[in-house]
Amino acid sequence: SLTYDLDAASIAAPNDLEAFWMGFTANRAFKARPRMVSRAKDMHYYTPEGRPILDGSAGLWCTNAGHNRDSIVAAIQKQAAEMDFAPTFQFGHPLAFKAASRIAELAPGDLDHVFFCNSGSEAGDTALKIALAFHAVTGKGTRTRLIGRERGYHGVGFGGITVGGISPNRRFFGSLLPGADHLPHTYDREKQAFSKGEPDWGAERADALEGIVALHDAQTIAAVIVEPMAGSTGGLPAPKGYLKRLREICDKYGILLIFDEVITGFGRLGFPFAAERYGVVPDMITFAKGVTSGAVPMGGVIVRKHIYDTFMNGQEHVIELFHGYTYSGHPLACAASLATLDLYRDEALFERARAMEPTFADAVMSLKGKPGVLDIRTVGLVAAFDMAPSVEGPGKRGYQAMETAFHDEGLMFRATGDTIAVSPPLIINEAQIGELVEKIGRTIDAVM
Ligand code: PLP
Repeated sequence: SLTYDLDAASIAAPNDLEAFWMGFTANRAFKARPRMVSRAKDMHYYTPEGRPILDGSAGLWCTNAGHNRDSIVAAIQKQAAEMDFAPTFQFGHPLAFKAASRIAELAPGDLDHVFFCNSGSEAGDTALKIALAFHAVTGKGTRTRLIGRERGYHGVGFGGITVGGISPNRRFFGSLLPGADHLPHTYDREKQAFSKGEPDWGAERADALEGIVALHDAQTIAAVIVEPMAGSTGGLPAPKGYLKRLREICDKYGILLIFDEVITGFGRLGFPFAAERYGVVPDMITFAKGVTSGAVPMGGVIVRKHIYDTFMNGQEHVIELFHGYTYSGHPLACAASLATLDLYRDEALFERARAMEPTFADAVMSLKGKPGVLDIRTVGLVAAFDMAPSVEGPGKRGYQAMETAFHDEGLMFRATGDTIAVSPPLIINEAQIGELVEKIGRTIDAVM
């Protein structure tokens, strides 16, 4: 049935599920058997009926501090009463400057300036536009080619899908995608299966950038964008040495290096940014999600000093970059972000994630050997379980697992194809890690 008691879920009438066309969702299957949540606290969601759901995915990789933390809720409420909106085009409000300073402080090296937007997709597009503009401003206007990576995800804007490497996200929009090339992805099950942390094999895949440079000429290439860990295509950590190698090749040819840290930022890999974990300073970092622990939409790009300084030229009254969003640096987002960053600091949540990593890795690897489990990968507080596809086709098993986990186990995780992806809030404790892994184990047994 396509109806559902939305009043019981405290949602306004009309009492049906048709109007909302849900993104990245099998709409008919969802509406036939909804997975609805209406309340959240710390490690749990609650269904409208009050059933607890252990949050194994930090919502969508975003509620890193846990749900509905009191200080974040209070900061948003206070700000809503104080000032709802203020433009950040030609005007400003103090919280936006404070938030930018705090975020820049967390980033390594001279990543000193923050351009705000509202999502990871906008952050990706913004970084790519800054890269193109940077080269144009420095007289290298031939550098227009953007390099992404197979299996990369940088959101759903036209820039993001141009460099993204997920074919269903690209296939209907092909006419707008010239001007990009892609590095090979870094996953090889035969060489990497059941690796904890960064796999030993794969750094040599960075050398493909040399081939791309040889093909197109460095003078046509603006930037390379990669996720330090590919999240959306199943938790693929960078192989040991891979990101350093990319940095070296980019330096050699004057190519800007962008890390998409929309998932890996704000503690997911045990550091403020994965750039620090890997000892590599990219030219730009994109972020979103964890910056407000998911409480208010916010995203942004952190850029190195030399890039920002390059734009700060010419007549002072002239706008330096024709780009920005109405809601860039929105007061509610800034208030949420400042409260979230305080919580990360006061509860040492990034350090906690780092300390918890070995326990988490051991726990998830205990499912190795289960029938139908082809690989388990883990890094930071991320784990991915590849299941053998069903005879009914790829993706069926993953979907069934997500449904079974929610309805029968009280567990939320992401399923991408037949891969179960797990990324709990950083406040997860050892007992909850045990519970999470048990629930996943029973789910896999149920769908195999
Ligand atoms: N970049 C990465 C690495 C992501 O994982 C995501 C979302 O999952 C995005 C960009 C897009 O973010 P948003 O959905 O906020 O636009």
